Amino acid sequence: MKNVVVLGCTGSIGTSTLKVAEDLPGHIRLLGLAAGQNVARLVEQAQRHRPLAVGIMDPAKTPVLRAALNVPCQIYAGDEGLIQLATHPEADIVLIAIVGTAGLAPALAAIRAGKDIAVASKEILVMAGEIVMREARKHGVRVLAVDSEHSAIFQCLDGKPPGSVRKLWLTASGGPFRDATVWPREKFPDITVEDALRHPSWVMGKKITIDSATLFNKGLEMIEARWLFDIEMARVDVLVHPQSIVHSMVEFVDGAWLAQLSTPDMCLPIQYALTYPERVANTRVQTHFPGVGRLEFQAPDTERFPALNLARRAGEQGGTLPAVFNAANEVAVDAFVNRQIDFPGITATVQRVMDAHATVHNPRLEEILAADAWARRAARPT
Ligand code: NDP
Repeated sequence: MKNVVVLGCTGSIGTSTLKVAEDLPGHIRLLGLAAGQNVARLVEQAQRHRPLAVGIMDPAKTPVLRAALNVPCQIYAGDEGLIQLATHPEADIVLIAIVGTAGLAPALAAIRAGKDIAVASKEILVMAGEIVMREARKHGVRVLAVDSEHSAIFQCLDGKPPGSVRKLWLTASGGPFRDATVWPREKFPDITVEDALRHPSWVMGKKITIDSATLFNKGLEMIEARWLFDIEMARVDVLVHPQSIVHSMVEFVDGAWLAQLSTPDMCLPIQYALTYPERVANTRVQTHFPGVGRLEFQAPDTERFPALNLARRAGEQGGTLPAVFNAANEVAVDAFVNRQIDFPGITATVQRVMDAHATVHNPRLEEILAADAWARRAARPT
């Protein structure tokens, strides 16, 4: 039985995590749940799952939350509240599914308190992967991947060292604009927010759905893989695989490839992270191969999707540049969703901000946070 704290419980990953917990009552006990703004959903979840503690981002919402909760439960609020939940003495593992970088401080706090962490919030590994992994090694805790691609790689590696790997291959659905005949580059300025939110194979939160349309999501994942699996960027690559059945692959030095396959459902990687090293029976995830038909693979089109090259540059240069890459993208996605910039403007913004940044090498956490704040200002639309 694992005692689990979920940060970001009201989002797409958070609600899937609660489904997984419901399926496996003998394996997962939800100890703490933290939401951003959504009090109503948090109350509903707390009443159903009876955690020991809940957290809400805005302290002003605590009285409303207290009044609505009719189960005994400790309430925490704000950034400090996230840290209290992440370091709860009874917690075994903290699942971080907060969109953006707000999960970094609680992730580090959990690690320093000796908790394993399960990371959905790839942004925190992109921003501060070196520090997060160093702290995890120092405190002897695990950093488990929730992203389906990294979960797949973790399962394929099965403990093999980086020296046995020729390449890690992240698969990408290609997003809604994969087909160049339907979406040539000239049409990119006409792409609407609604077009970009129509993902062909996954139902996810807004930010990651837009990131999947620009392929920034895959760029973030390349850097995430670099840190999670302690491998240089040159050995992390991407293949477009429209069916989203092969979640990623490892090419070993002897020429063998291993892949993890299953129907696209985040419940599986979430479950694996929370029950690792066990494989626990479930009936939720069922893959029907005759219905799948073909599995296709293509090289990504970096002309139409320059995010992959920007990610490689950020990952290779390292230092504060990945944090800048991530922060500029977050602001640009927001600007696109608010119709302040067009679709190609997302990539153009990130490139402009990266070009203007003077990278600090071997940065301390404060220098990373400063670069993040600088990039957010620099990326703001004028
Ligand atoms: P959603 O937008 O659906 O959910 C975000 C969650 O974060 C919500 O619970 C939200 O609370 C909470 N939140 C936001 N800001 C804060 C804050 N400052 N403090 C506490 N909680 C906060 O996002 P997703 O679930 O899609 O994604 C979460 C993370 O997982 C992202 O980093 C994404 O890249 C990653 N990921 C997502 C996948 C998916 O399939 N969705 C797949 C792989 C990775 P509220 O709603 O109450 O405001």
